[in-house]
Amino acid sequence: MFNLEKLVRKHILTLKPYSSARDEYSGNEGIFIDANENPYHSVGNLDFNRYPDPYQKELKKEIAEIKNVAANQIFLGNGSDEIIDYITRTFCEPYQDNILIMPPTFAMYKVNALINTVEVKEAPLDQNFQMDEKKVHELIDENTKVVYVCTPNNPTGNNLAYQAIINILESDYNGIVVIDEAYLEFSGRDSFTSMLDKYPNMIVLQTFSKAWGMAGLRLGMGFASSEIIHMLNKIKPPYNLSQLTQETALKALSQKEQMTKMVEDMIIERKFLEEEFAKLSVVEKIYPSDTNFILVRVSNPNKVFTTLLNKLIIVRNQSHVAQCEGCLRITAGTREENIALIETLQELS
Ligand SMILES: *Cc1c(COP(=O)(O)O)cnc(C)c1O
Repeated sequence: MFNLEKLVRKHILTLKPYSSARDEYSGNEGIFIDANENPYHSVGNLDFNRYPDPYQKELKKEIAEIKNVAANQIFLGNGSDEIIDYITRTFCEPYQDNILIMPPTFAMYKVNALINTVEVKEAPLDQNFQMDEKKVHELIDENTKVVYVCTPNNPTGNNLAYQAIINILESDYNGIVVIDEAYLEFSGRDSFTSMLDKYPNMIVLQTFSKAWGMAGLRLGMGFASSEIIHMLNKIKPPYNLSQLTQETALKALSQKEQMTKMVEDMIIERKFLEEEFAKLSVVEKIYPSDTNFILVRVSNPNKVFTTLLNKLIIVRNQSHVAQCEGCLRITAGTREENIALIETLQELS
């Protein structure tokens, strides 16, 4: 049985969180002389002299509607990276607990655990970059507090089999299962957020960095039970999301059709690249993608990488990553950018 109070680190459970001025009075009207702010305006006549809403209520209300979850099931962070860090620090005792990842996968899970002196167990994906369920269940022990499932997975690009994920959620493992859906919008899958009520140990991560085109804004979303969100809220700095971030994201949400259109365009461009790669002798293998990028195996990856780099075409060299030997990870660019890439690869073929 999942028991949040038993899972959370003791000192977090009993922690009395920092109480900000805006925690103690959250009304909108009045004479605000409680937070040592500048009462005039920002330098440059901008409107940032007041601290932002620490719980981003307006923004969460809109996100709740679009994602069909309750506002108290949402946590917002300065990128998903920030949320990953809070998950580690809420559940993992340094030098004692561990997390489980399925490499090759997003490097941040491991790096963040190591920063926090938390052990990392690895159950590599199989030859088809699918979950090795037997290995995952073998490696999980009583100190495994978080299992990361990245679907679609980065850098491999594929959706993980749905049933394997359900099997973890339904197993007798009672730690946290994080489902990282950074590329959900490209994947053709439904979000696991629809199952929040069914799986109290699940945290779903999404981001504004990819489909929404807002990587520079830094806005990540975590969805979980209101009890888990409450724990994450206890440890976050009060003003982790700026006023600018909150306002800009609200504006973006009101123009959601633009996101849908850009996702369609990015998928068209990815398919264009897949077709063109298939004609090139330098490309040995094109891995199937459910994202806006493609993992390709090329002959002589370092030469291909450097030749592209010399033409100021920058791709991600994955050839040093286990199970990605010989591979480059290439994001679908604009049509012009993609043609420039193909032309250079043709010269190498
Ligand atoms: C890009 C990406 C993210 C997004 O991280 P942000 O901090 O929100 O920009 C999260 N997970 C994966 C697997 C990614 O590839």
